[in-house]
Amino acid sequence: MKIVWIDPGHGGKDPGAVANSLREKDIALIVSLGVKQRLEAEYEGVQVHLSRSTDVFLELKERTEAANKAGADLLVSIHCNAGGGAGGFESFRYTGVSAASRSLQNVLHTEIMAAIKTFGVIDRGQKAANLHMCRESKMPAVLTENLFIDVASDAAKLKRQEVIEALIAGHVSGIAKYLGLKRKEGKPMTKERDINVVSSWAAPAWEAATKNGYFDGTRPGAPITREEAAVLIMRLENKK
Ligand SMILES: [Zn+2]
Repeated sequence: MKIVWIDPGHGGKDPGAVANSLREKDIALIVSLGVKQRLEAEYEGVQVHLSRSTDVFLELKERTEAANKAGADLLVSIHCNAGGGAGGFESFRYTGVSAASRSLQNVLHTEIMAAIKTFGVIDRGQKAANLHMCRESKMPAVLTENLFIDVASDAAKLKRQEVIEALIAGHVSGIAKYLGLKRKEGKPMTKERDINVVSSWAAPAWEAATKNGYFDGTRPGAPITREEAAVLIMRLENKK
């Protein structure tokens, strides 16, 4: 059994980058939950552990200590970038790093870019830096910077479900390739969904929308009719 450690960046009192009505901690969690769900559903012999599965604060040290203690086979720390400019995707390994980490970075970076380049995401390249998450992890470790929260064109992409799905798919494919995981047999690529179960990437938004009274909290996966959309618009208008 391979153990994959996924580290959703930030959380709780630390939102990470905040701009364009997006918070880095939310995107990191949504992508991380999606990676766990898909890896375990589609591949044999793999277990995914998360540093956090809710909106809580953790010190960096707590994250790497937990991953080291679990004896994880690899670690991926999932973040979004900020700092303006043209935006894009980049990945980091530690500066004084092993061949294994280089190889993990290469396959992960390549698979993620292959999944998102159709959306016009800029490839900022494979980089090395002295980052705690990569330095203190005993296993091969890479940190991904998934687009720029504060660059309007990137933020618009991060608000699209298909871009989030592509980021998840790229991470899943890269990890599976690196570990040589075997796809589960007889498992169709797209299985019929249960409309009563909320998708992990939508869970925080669904919870908020239900709490605000926009939806009644039932059947998150059902299609919406024009009359239901009209009721939703009315509720939004009344809330102003
Ligand atoms: Zn970050």
